[in-house]
Amino acid sequence: MGRLLLVSLPATGAVIYRCKHCDTPLAYATDIISRMFCCKNGKAYLFGKLVNVNVGEKDDREMTTGMHTVCDIFCVACGCILGWKYLAAVEKAQRYKVGKFILDRGVLVAAASPAAAAAAAAHGNGNGNGMWQQQQQTSGDDQDSDEESSDHQD
Ligand SMILES: [Zn+2]
Repeated sequence: MGRLLLVSLPATGAVIYRCKHCDTPLAYATDIISRMFCCKNGKAYLFGKLVNVNVGEKDDREMTTGMHTVCDIFCVACGCILGWKYLAAVEKAQRYKVGKFILDRGVLVAAASPAAAAAAAAHGNGNGNGMWQQQQQTSGDDQDSDEESSDHQD
């Protein structure tokens, strides 16, 4: 294994999600698109972008919302599986997920950056959380519950 060059996520006031196993920063809470997903281990979040992940082999999987081409994503530092990335979706309505990432909530730890409390106090309504809640409500009818099918065991 060569030297790892991790991308750092500068403090913006947003909560930063880290790998539960090795504390590598992975994403900002402000990059969450939806918290309504689930994976075989429970809750999962859809993220618009991530750092410090490796992608695995391309794979076609039948999910509750139809057939998707995905690849697993792994922590670059400890190699644990974090979730998957959508590469393609058969259903037109599901294509908004293509190029985006699912992270298993169970492998994440959320760490508020020190500036978060101050920023929330200064702006009165938190750092963008209200915006995300609104978006979730308006997109209620395409509520997702993607699951890897149970016949997809390695
Ligand atoms: Zn890790």
